[in-house]
Amino acid sequence: ASKSKSHNMEIKGAVLFIDMAELYEQVGEIKGQNSKDAIKELVAKLFIRIMKENREEFVPAYLFSILKLGPDYESWELGIGQGIIVKSISAVSGKSEKQVRELMNTLGDLGLAIEKSKSTQTSLNKFFVSQSVKEEVKLTMIQVFNTLQQLQKQEGTGSSLEKERILTGLLRMAKPIEAKYIIRFIEKNLKIGAAEKTMQAALARAFQLYHKGNVEGDYESIINQALCECPNYKKIIDTLFSIQSLKEVPELCHIIPGVPCKPMLAKPMKSIQMIFQRFENMKFTCEYKYDGLRGQIHFENGQVSIFSRNLENMTQTYPDIVNYVHTHYQHLDGFIIDSEIVAYDVANNRILPFQTLTSRAKKNVDQNQIEIQVCLYIFDLLYLNKQSYLKETLEKRRQTLRETFKEEEGKLKFATSRDSENFEEIEEFLLNSIKMGCEGLMIKTLEINSQYEPAKRSFNWLKLKKDYLDNGLSDTFDLVPIGACYGTGKRKGFYGSYLLACYNEDMDQYETTCKIGTGFSDENLEKFFQFFQEYLIPHPLSEYKCDGVNMDVWFSPVVVWEIKSADIQISPIYSACSTILQLNNKGVGLRFPRLIKVREDKKPNEATSSQFLYDVYKQQAVVASNNTFEQDDD
Ligand code: ATP
Repeated sequence: ASKSKSHNMEIKGAVLFIDMAELYEQVGEIKGQNSKDAIKELVAKLFIRIMKENREEFVPAYLFSILKLGPDYESWELGIGQGIIVKSISAVSGKSEKQVRELMNTLGDLGLAIEKSKSTQTSLNKFFVSQSVKEEVKLTMIQVFNTLQQLQKQEGTGSSLEKERILTGLLRMAKPIEAKYIIRFIEKNLKIGAAEKTMQAALARAFQLYHKGNVEGDYESIINQALCECPNYKKIIDTLFSIQSLKEVPELCHIIPGVPCKPMLAKPMKSIQMIFQRFENMKFTCEYKYDGLRGQIHFENGQVSIFSRNLENMTQTYPDIVNYVHTHYQHLDGFIIDSEIVAYDVANNRILPFQTLTSRAKKNVDQNQIEIQVCLYIFDLLYLNKQSYLKETLEKRRQTLRETFKEEEGKLKFATSRDSENFEEIEEFLLNSIKMGCEGLMIKTLEINSQYEPAKRSFNWLKLKKDYLDNGLSDTFDLVPIGACYGTGKRKGFYGSYLLACYNEDMDQYETTCKIGTGFSDENLEKFFQFFQEYLIPHPLSEYKCDGVNMDVWFSPVVVWEIKSADIQISPIYSACSTILQLNNKGVGLRFPRLIKVREDKKPNEATSSQFLYDVYKQQAVVASNNTFEQDDD
């Protein structure tokens, strides 16, 4: 009796997980035109209650809602595959693993499978499988979050069994709908039509209500800006609780070594003329566009960290770079530089292709065993000696970069640049960049509008790739394969074509863009076929906008492919950009798509956005009619 009393006391006042699960359930039912606003208000209502009554539990509740256990740059991947989930569901429900998989196939996902099997357990079954669990057990948000963290910490031999044991314990205590969302969290999709962007809007709304008009301002954009320099929700949420004015947020949540800043990105251009049009009367520079992996290098207090384009911590992958920075730049009082990590042939002093870099090991890299050497091509300075350089002009950043760092062949080089406004010179420079093994040029404003804009795909950075010299589109697209058709003839036994989708961030939906059957080597045909066997799903997901497209098989969104295409056209079949176009449900489709490579550095929700595809479509139309540019749109 005393045990259950203390349990009740423990949960008194705590956020109950059932409240979160019921919220997700209600959110999932909201459909229609203004659904995003309705969802925002509904979610904000529960958020504000938690903020007022259980402030210290708010961060876990928020993070769970956006499918995170911590910031992206801290490795917190759960590493739980379908096999473990199926075993746990089987143990909890008394069903065989085969029955669980069948249930998943009928219902569409493992979340629904556990919900259904828990709610239809016979009482006898319930007695055997959960006799140790008392009816009155109420899961708290903290309990669920802590258990997920515990799951994440399991590694090494025997960790699979331990994960299964911990997960089974948690699912036993959960009510059917709670179990559904725990499983969906592990499967990285709550399936409620509200992803991070919507939750972020609800967070802003909740804080606005929390401060009851005492702190005025645009919460949504302040949170957005803070996330660019400091992508750590805990820090931002703690700050938002403590402020008297919104101005304090950027003062407290700013760029700092050890925390990656979202990188600035470039807009694609189709010709050198377009660059002149864009940068008329502005000073600009052209740099080689190296073909490697973006590396944001941080150093402070003897600690070096390296972050990827999407903020993943790659420090373990490059002990050679870590060592180089330690040896040469100990004297600096902290810095953050932006660079491209490029595979390098030391014997012949030349750049090696991107594919060589990806064949280098990623985990547990021992510096003495490294066979593929890399050279750092540095092109920007974000922070130096306790000072942010983001607001400085590129001219100043570049000058300080050159004064602070020293070039060494095959180790560290400044991106080759040319400050020229002469058409022929730029053309020659572009051809040289390609000869040197680069992708083309990056063209950047030097003075006016030249500050570093974190997270922004900016018109102040333009890219001109060598592919533009063919008659193709001005950029490649990064798309997600979501389905396939079986091949015939030589391709029998594999998939002959794949259906590709872009990602609509506002709707949290994957929108179809084309079918692709070109660009696959025989080796890839087989490799991709095997790869997808683990990700087959019986029906398209509800977030796939794919009406009218028939495929033999469907996949979960797990991988991103870089695609080159000749043209974009309005299409009655594909759904990409249909919400932006508003043309009787028509979308845009890519013509003559061809596979370039697998984008290992992007996650499916970082695929080309519908907005980006639409921008390229629009730009293409502008170029076709020989007109000038449209206004900046972001
Ligand atoms: P892409 O497929 O072209 O790499 P992306 O979306 O990853 O597309 P973009 O903004 O289109 O990024 O192009 C900029 C990328 O080019 C940077 O992320 C960086 O990795 C690489 N890069 C190579 N050289 C430079 C340079 N001199 N300045 C800036 N970025 C460079």
